[in-house]
Amino acid sequence: MTEDSEALGEFDRIARFFAPLAKDAPGAFGLTDDAAALPPLAEGQEWVVTVDALVSAVHFLPDDPPELVARKALRVNLSDLAAMGAVPYGYTLALALPKDMAEPQRWLAAFSRGLAADQAEFGIHLLGGDSVSTPGPVTLSITAFGRGPRDGVLRRSGAAPGQDVWVSGTIGDGALGLRVAQGLLSGRFADLADRYRLPAPRVTLGPRLAGLATAALDVSDGLVQDAGHIATHSGCRLVIEAPLVPISASVADLVSDDPDLFAEVLTGGDDYELLFTAAPEAADAIEAAGREAGVSVTRIGRVQSGAGVEVLDHHGAPLDGLTARGWRHF
Ligand SMILES: [Mg+2]
Repeated sequence: MTEDSEALGEFDRIARFFAPLAKDAPGAFGLTDDAAALPPLAEGQEWVVTVDALVSAVHFLPDDPPELVARKALRVNLSDLAAMGAVPYGYTLALALPKDMAEPQRWLAAFSRGLAADQAEFGIHLLGGDSVSTPGPVTLSITAFGRGPRDGVLRRSGAAPGQDVWVSGTIGDGALGLRVAQGLLSGRFADLADRYRLPAPRVTLGPRLAGLATAALDVSDGLVQDAGHIATHSGCRLVIEAPLVPISASVADLVSDDPDLFAEVLTGGDDYELLFTAAPEAADAIEAAGREAGVSVTRIGRVQSGAGVEVLDHHGAPLDGLTARGWRHF
């Protein structure tokens, strides 16, 4: 591409690839001003803000399609907003591309196509950003803004003994999907690799849980580790019954072939499901919220006094060997 042999200036780059993504956000001023303006909030709302940084070869592979890199970066942020019970509004983007990158225009075109696709899917807009070159790898950071209930955003600190532990969707697709994507598990399970590459942030469920859930977060490090975050910040113990943890048909297939993979289901990361606690009386309302959002919700355990996380097998005996492996980088 001839254009790639020319250095496209920063202003042209913004006008061509990023301004179209901001055209429907009034406060973005077409990306021509020094900063964006956020609209006033309705009564009873407050802004919720989250930021994530991604580095090539650490958080994604250098040859991953730029469309997917863009969409995953955005979705990881939307998942954090959902975990706080906030409705996504918009985002800003900081992008650093390698000075010696081959065909940067082609990369930017694909990257901005990915952003446009998810903007349409989630009803959000680019509000502002910066684009620079770097001697290092592709690096990007997205800051997402959402509107949450004033004084009612979901925190990690509200779980209390006697409450139930719930999770949305299915667990383990992301972790086993990474293995499929790496060619370590059968290509028959391409659906899992797709879920790893493109998580589904629970943006419609999260806001419906505000006022129902007592604590919440999104599962990015792994179910057990993230349950530990709620336990720590709430000052209590989370008991998870392993047989209740919802898994997809593909994960069930893989685990029945190799039961050792179940540990990976419970401790691998990248699920982007919501893990939350609630009083037992809220169970019917939570089921209804799940139906309205079109996302399954499953009760997987309970909150007790104490500390840490205990996972029980189908005999009710503690499952050992689930040492927090944490989220593993490539
Ligand atoms: Mg999170």
